[in-house]
Amino acid sequence: MKIKGSTNIVGLIGHPVEHSFSPPMHNAAFDELGMDYAYVAFDVDPHNLKSAIDGAKSLNIKGFNVTIPHKIEVMQFLDEIDEIAGLIGAVNTIDFKNLKGYNTDGIGAIRAIEEVTTIKNKNVVVAGAGGASRAISFYLVKYGAKSITILNRNVDKAKSLANDILDSGLINEVIADSVSKINGYLVNADILVDTTPIGMYPHVDDEPIVRAESMHNDLVVFDAVYNPNETPLIKEAIKAGAKPVYGIKMLLYQGVESFKIWTGRDAPADEMEKVLKQTLNLEG
Ligand code: NAP
Repeated sequence: MKIKGSTNIVGLIGHPVEHSFSPPMHNAAFDELGMDYAYVAFDVDPHNLKSAIDGAKSLNIKGFNVTIPHKIEVMQFLDEIDEIAGLIGAVNTIDFKNLKGYNTDGIGAIRAIEEVTTIKNKNVVVAGAGGASRAISFYLVKYGAKSITILNRNVDKAKSLANDILDSGLINEVIADSVSKINGYLVNADILVDTTPIGMYPHVDDEPIVRAESMHNDLVVFDAVYNPNETPLIKEAIKAGAKPVYGIKMLLYQGVESFKIWTGRDAPADEMEKVLKQTLNLEG
């Protein structure tokens, strides 16, 4: 890649950002398509968030990804918020054409799952009720899930998310309960989405949220954890003959969707996935 006078800048704002996988992934995509763009990571202290957005506007930056701790706070500095991002209450992508915020995390998970099955009319069990669960759950509703069951250690948090989803009016059936009861809920589930950090490196020997014995072989099992590639839960899914969906795909497709928002072009997903795996040092 050659930076020229005409090069368009996109990037990431977060705090910290130095371990981000997004710069290599997006720069590889721009290279692959021969596009005059460069992706840069900016470490933005929370106190400087407003001036970072104002500065980016002045500098004619084309787009940002937004990561922790700015995903919620940044919304107040934008002119427009995409409808689902508004329901989620967090953005991870900004398009400076209209200073509009989007959330591509949830759609990233949906695209990952839809490589294996459709969401429409499916009964989905979601473990966890944090940021990832919230982003994915609203998209599950948007893509026509029949029912959503939110299971969490802290049941109040599950109930709160379930109420927010019901308030959206997009779905009639949302259950909230303790994650300790997951085995029972999986009997009638089509899709399990695990958004807990269980099994995330270096805790690769964690006890998974559910064992193979409690999975039927039509179940689609998505684990948001992407490092290691084969988490304890994914190993159990394979053992049960269920259909595994790897966390790296969510990472990939959130980037693919952001790329499209900024450039209007379809991203080269295969090249991005290859670079993601290299950056994360994952096998396969
Ligand atoms: P978060 O907001 O902190 O939420 C974590 C959730 O997991 C909470 O509901 C928490 O329950 C639950 N939890 C934590 N430890 C648990 C345990 N030992 N047993 C049962 N439940 C447990 O985190 P997040 O931002 O949603 O991220 C969650 C995971 O998703 C992380 O591993 C992250 O790396 C991954 N993620 C992946 C992608 C991707 O692109 N693949 C994107 C975003 C996030 P309580 O409420 O009871 O504490």
